[in-house]
Amino acid sequence: MLVLCVGIRQSVRVPPVPGTPHTGEPVSDSDALPPSDPLPPSDPPSSNDPPSPSDAGPSAEGEAGHPLPRVIALANQKGGVGKTTTTVNLGAALAEMGLRTLIIDLDPQGNASTGLGIENRGLEHSMYHVLMHEEPLENVVEPTDVRNLFVAPASLDLAGAEIELVPAFSREQRLKRAIDAVRDDYDYVLVDCPPSLGLLTVNGLAAASEVMVPIQCEYYALEGLGQLLRNVDLVKRNLNPTLDMSTILCVMYDARTKLSGQVVAEVREHFGDKVLRSVIPRSVRLSEAPSFGQPITTFDPRSRGAIAYRDAAREVHNGAL
Ligand code: ADP
Ligand code: MG
Repeated sequence: MLVLCVGIRQSVRVPPVPGTPHTGEPVSDSDALPPSDPLPPSDPPSSNDPPSPSDAGPSAEGEAGHPLPRVIALANQKGGVGKTTTTVNLGAALAEMGLRTLIIDLDPQGNASTGLGIENRGLEHSMYHVLMHEEPLENVVEPTDVRNLFVAPASLDLAGAEIELVPAFSREQRLKRAIDAVRDDYDYVLVDCPPSLGLLTVNGLAAASEVMVPIQCEYYALEGLGQLLRNVDLVKRNLNPTLDMSTILCVMYDARTKLSGQVVAEVREHFGDKVLRSVIPRSVRLSEAPSFGQPITTFDPRSRGAIAYRDAAREVHNGAL
């Protein structure tokens, strides 16, 4: 991992300027396409059909080796790298394919909840109660405006759980137990982890069958990744032997900068086919959608961000096409 970080840094000439985009260019939508291999056309989702797992096309089993339901933890201890944006929009795109999808908000900031239009202040039942008071997960799950998409919201009190869990009995397995009780109700469970490697993230990793890591196509993109991978390995050895670090998604790709392409190329070189061919562009529309409480797929269904997350969802579900 260290070698990887060094490699990335050496290949980049632009020195980082703290607190500013390292490219020195303004952040905006760019029309150029990211360098993902174009995915072959696949059947468009039939929006009029009733939602059921069988709507998801020929591969209702999901990607080979990943039977449904799939529980995927979106983790990266860095903040602001696109975990929540990916959880919400990938979840919405999977739901659009007819796959029943539950988003579990494990971040006390509650951005996945509010980004899906759930008012999370003063919630009587939230992920805090699931983890600390054995509240059944089904009691906290809320439907969203998107068919087939559900969310188990978080509010700020979840921050206390990180500490309150420390002396608690079976503190690492609480989320897993909660999910086990509802797993047959969903095709996908996406866990939006907080930007830390504390007990909340450990609960996410212990409950998941897979880990997906969003990587920002920016200068320090790979910093800290080694630590994340070591933690995934620790959880695998001690709590969850079948955990699979299955997927890496390159996000915030800016086609106008060489740097974005270099990061994608290096990530692909090191992680091979774990890296989705779909790449998520940097897009102002993606950053605007949460303040309207909507995923990009309904906020701006034809935008580049919506198309990219749909491509990523098809790839995640069907495997490499
Ligand atoms: P994390 O959950 O890892 O902290 P977020 O998903 O909240 O990261 O993203 C951090 C910020 O970047 C948010 O303001 C979000 O709207 C914005 N963002 C995420 N992905 C993109 C993108 N592809 N293009 C533009 N802005 C993005
Ligand atoms: Mg987040």
